[in-house]
Amino acid sequence: MTEVTGSCLCGGVRFAVTVPFIVVTACHCASCKKLSGGVGTSSGGARTEDIRILVGHELLRTYQPDEGSAKTFCSRCGSNLFGGGWPESERTSVRLTTLDEPFEGRIGSHIFVRSLAPWEVLPEDGANRYEVRAP
Ligand SMILES: [Zn+2]
Ligand SMILES: [Zn+2]
Repeated sequence: MTEVTGSCLCGGVRFAVTVPFIVVTACHCASCKKLSGGVGTSSGGARTEDIRILVGHELLRTYQPDEGSAKTFCSRCGSNLFGGGWPESERTSVRLTTLDEPFEGRIGSHIFVRSLAPWEVLPEDGANRYEVRAP
């Protein structure tokens, strides 16, 4: 077990998380498209207690949509940092895009592929694909 660090675009929020992640998932759902500005979110699943906010706790905001889990972002730059219900959930989805060192792992599952955009192409990466969430 080792720790890696992550940060938002403006650098106001920095955190550390224990790796390896429990799962690595790309979510293609409509919510993740809205919040990411791209095809969706790619996240590593971690135990919430294994995430430490190093600086910028006061910049964090959590949005609870009507459907799905709470998403947490930096209120200064808008970077999406965590999903899955942080800080109250048992597990948190840590956005791979926030990690300071390039993530060397691979996507294990593509979820919510029913929400693929017409302009979006799934990679032939051998990962599992699920119409909605993984069983
Ligand atoms: Zn920021
Ligand atoms: Zn999603």
